[in-house]
Amino acid sequence: MKHLLGMVATWIAAPAFAAPLPFVLKQVGPGVYAAIDGPDHKAGSNVGFVIGDDGVLVIDAFFNVDAARALVGEIHRLTPKPIRFLVNTHYHADHTGGDQALRDAGAVIIAHKNVRGWVRTNNVNLFGDRITPELKARIQALPLPDLTTDKDLTVWLGARKVVVQTVLGHTGGDLAIAVPDAKVLFTGDMLWRKIAPNLIDGSVKEWMATDAALAAMPGAAHTTYVPGHGDVADQSDVKDFNAYLGDLRRLVSEGRNSGLRDEALAQFVAPKLKALHPDWTISDRAAAAEVRYMDQELAGTKRRPVPVRD
Ligand SMILES: [Zn+2]
Repeated sequence: MKHLLGMVATWIAAPAFAAPLPFVLKQVGPGVYAAIDGPDHKAGSNVGFVIGDDGVLVIDAFFNVDAARALVGEIHRLTPKPIRFLVNTHYHADHTGGDQALRDAGAVIIAHKNVRGWVRTNNVNLFGDRITPELKARIQALPLPDLTTDKDLTVWLGARKVVVQTVLGHTGGDLAIAVPDAKVLFTGDMLWRKIAPNLIDGSVKEWMATDAALAAMPGAAHTTYVPGHGDVADQSDVKDFNAYLGDLRRLVSEGRNSGLRDEALAQFVAPKLKALHPDWTISDRAAAAEVRYMDQELAGTKRRPVPVRD
């Protein structure tokens, strides 16, 4: 009996590595890793990191502090170099929710200047009627970025160059992170691979222009794209995502032109969109929201986050 209790105590106190990781770590270049959200979406989004000469730069921090702590553990397992920077691709809580774990690990938080004004406020809107008092409190306590920009920025990890680029379309405060020597681009939510994107803050018009440019950039055919959601991607996935946005816009436009609105518009668009993209995950809830936001954009009534003055 005593022995059994001892075993239980050991099991309860088991170190973190005994628990399965909520993400799958994939090496996408020399010293460049993507951490892809697991099948039950416990991490909430994808993140990544770059090991340079004198330190590590992390891209995004998942939705949960626990998942971000597990990421810090994996980084420490791979390298003794310090975690120096965290770049948030945008303010959404599924990418910033674990920021505190990276700050605790020593990272300076870099973000688009609009993230500072939105991360503790607009994230509440993101959850709509699914917000709870606990989640609201957690959002209102999220770390604010230390270093903000509305221009491209080069971060040097010793001799290793990381280019932080401003991009338009998803929120109005988005960054994509390029590692030129490894031909890797972390797109944040500018790219979703085979998963219906969240358009709540987006402009599909700007978004499609950005993705067309990302798919046509020099070296695109040999670039690895790490999306905000979905598995590691290539140039054809960027084109496929842009085609998805184009189909959504065309179908919503057709439905509007034949006088359909609201529920009827969603019922017209969703089955056609799913039929055109059979290998995509498109929940009914996501499809209805996409149609609603696309309808608003075409009607000129779409509300997007408003930049806050420093
Ligand atoms: Zn997002």
